[in-house]
Amino acid sequence: ATERPLLSVNNIEVIYDHVILVLKGVSLTVPKGGIVALLGANGAGKTTTLKAISNLLRAERGEVTKGSIELEGEAVDNMTPNDLVKRGVIQVMEGRHCFEHLTVEENLLTGAYTRGGDRAGIQRDLEMVYDYFPRLRERRSSQAGYTSGGEQQMTAIGRALMSRPKVVLLDEPSMGLAPQLVEQIFEIVKRINEQEGVTILLAEQNTNVALRYAKYGYILENGRVVMDGPADKLRENEDVKEFYLGLS
Ligand code: ATP
Repeated sequence: ATERPLLSVNNIEVIYDHVILVLKGVSLTVPKGGIVALLGANGAGKTTTLKAISNLLRAERGEVTKGSIELEGEAVDNMTPNDLVKRGVIQVMEGRHCFEHLTVEENLLTGAYTRGGDRAGIQRDLEMVYDYFPRLRERRSSQAGYTSGGEQQMTAIGRALMSRPKVVLLDEPSMGLAPQLVEQIFEIVKRINEQEGVTILLAEQNTNVALRYAKYGYILENGRVVMDGPADKLRENEDVKEFYLGLS
């Protein structure tokens, strides 16, 4: 028997500014506890897909005009981003997006905003984040805007963890980071997935690294899924090798 997926995106269409059709019927499923990669070139629609799920499109004048999105079998299309965070769906935006004037620790604590007065739990999770990212413990009192790109990416992921997510939508975590640091961050994400049971849906242009950490992948081209399969199968696929793995 197949278990119900944690997240399912069913044939969604997304339009920006009422006329620009960007997603032309995208479907994907994310199993509970999985790491799924959303791959494709710049502009293929990866970020739009993540924002459709976390309902962050409205701020960009975008809307889902067809299809549906379900979390544990329940439609979540009409939930606000805030309600989705409470339900365990959180996005880590591309480009890291820390609050530059707050310290690293204050940034992490903002991630717990939906948890009210759960002080002991929040403190425990802060320690958990520092255990996964020892570098952040060292930098806890530094103003985030003055930390490195890698540290800001770690802060952004740590902040998401502070909301006690079921699924983290991770947009382009490798962006602008040196290969060694990319590897280090993916290693930590994998450990969080395994040890905390946090499901990961990851958008990446770096196909090579994404397919080494994900179990399953979807390739988007021009707003459509053109191929999907287990990560090891995709890595052996001749088209994937030629068009997506050739550069790395
Ligand atoms: P990237 O790596 O740049 O994030 P992507 O695969 O995530 O690429 P999207 O950012 O989802 O792609 O963009 C898909 C298409 O939608 C692109 O053609 C882009 O120009 C267009 N687009 C994105 N945001 C908007 C917007 N707010 N208004 C109009 N068009 C947009």
